[in-house]
Amino acid sequence: EKTAEQVLQEALTAWDWNALVVGAVRYGAGHINDTFCVYTQTDNGDCVRYILQRINTNTFRDPDALMENISGVTGYLRKIIEKNGGDPMRETMNVIPTREGKSYYADSDGGAWRVYTFVEDTVCLQKVETPEQFYESAYAFGNFQRLLADYPADTLHETIANFHNTVWRYENFEKALAADACGRAKEVQAEIDFVKAHKDDCAVMVNLLKEGRLPLRVTHNDTKLNNILMDKASGKGICVIDLDTVMPGLAANDYGDSIRFGANDCAEDERDLTKVNFSLPLFETYTEGFLAAAGDALTDLEKDTLVWGAKLMTLECGIRFLTDYLEGDHYFKVHREGHNLDRCRTQFKLVSDMESHWDEMKAIVKKHS
Ligand code: ATP
Ligand code: MG
Ligand code: MG
Repeated sequence: EKTAEQVLQEALTAWDWNALVVGAVRYGAGHINDTFCVYTQTDNGDCVRYILQRINTNTFRDPDALMENISGVTGYLRKIIEKNGGDPMRETMNVIPTREGKSYYADSDGGAWRVYTFVEDTVCLQKVETPEQFYESAYAFGNFQRLLADYPADTLHETIANFHNTVWRYENFEKALAADACGRAKEVQAEIDFVKAHKDDCAVMVNLLKEGRLPLRVTHNDTKLNNILMDKASGKGICVIDLDTVMPGLAANDYGDSIRFGANDCAEDERDLTKVNFSLPLFETYTEGFLAAAGDALTDLEKDTLVWGAKLMTLECGIRFLTDYLEGDHYFKVHREGHNLDRCRTQFKLVSDMESHWDEMKAIVKKHS
């Protein structure tokens, strides 16, 4: 058995750093992978930093597929950014191959490691503090969509199967309800009725994709504020990071997930539903930023269905919390009794709010299209 430190040291030997490795220290506030900052010193005395990550292979079981997605997308971004006169060292992640020319290193302990160039002079915000920051994240994710508009999305691996297959999510809910493994169904009739009343909604976007009316896009699938690096001087969102969940999908789903968690000012598990309110102003902020960057790259139907993305990502999330509650809280970590139920209720409240503001939401999308 090797210690964690020994495995880290072993991983460091897999890259040719072209410099003296001074040390590697834990870095950032990620929850999925183990992230380190590697400090090196070149012959002329410069300090050059890198990001070294041990991929969480419990979550991502196929590092080959995962790294193929990331190498493909970042390689493509690098070329497009260069062509547009941008700076590919700051505006995209860059994978540094191992000495053996591989995109990751498989250590003797079963771990998988990768190295990225460090994007210097940026900040990574954990929480939206101002609408401008929310706008900047929207712009950055919209820009990601635009730059990758012609990428052959069907060549990407689906690293998490059925991730936003809302029909499949509904079916899983039905199974959990039929099994009622913990006898909890009787306490949550209102939530069950809510899901059942939305059964047809679950198929709307899935069907449009199936019918070939919506294009398959490169989607990020974790469009949080802290997966954007912002330029320290200007505050502009310049680089989209954390590409583990890059997969083929719908543009509206990336957009919609951002709206789900960003267009309100409550915690996802707030118990007092009077504090859970969908914010039209924040919805407009994100929509404006996203469309300013991605607008020209999206089809008319993609733009028309952005509101559906917002509603369905929120509904899907609520359905998943309710399903997990019915199954006995196996998937999401819970910290108190009824935690998944509380989370499910906030999502359903937001869905209801969106339904009451549906026409206004559509008008806002039109206005910025
Ligand atoms: P999450 O919990 O969001 O899934 P994660 O464990 O997948 O996070 P990352 O988001 O990839 O980890 O990285 C963790 C942190 O490391 C980022 O939030 C950011 O602060 C920093 N970081 C990652 N890549 C870079 C980079 N290329 N340059 C500078 N900082 C970076
Ligand atoms: Mg992250
Ligand atoms: Mg991540």
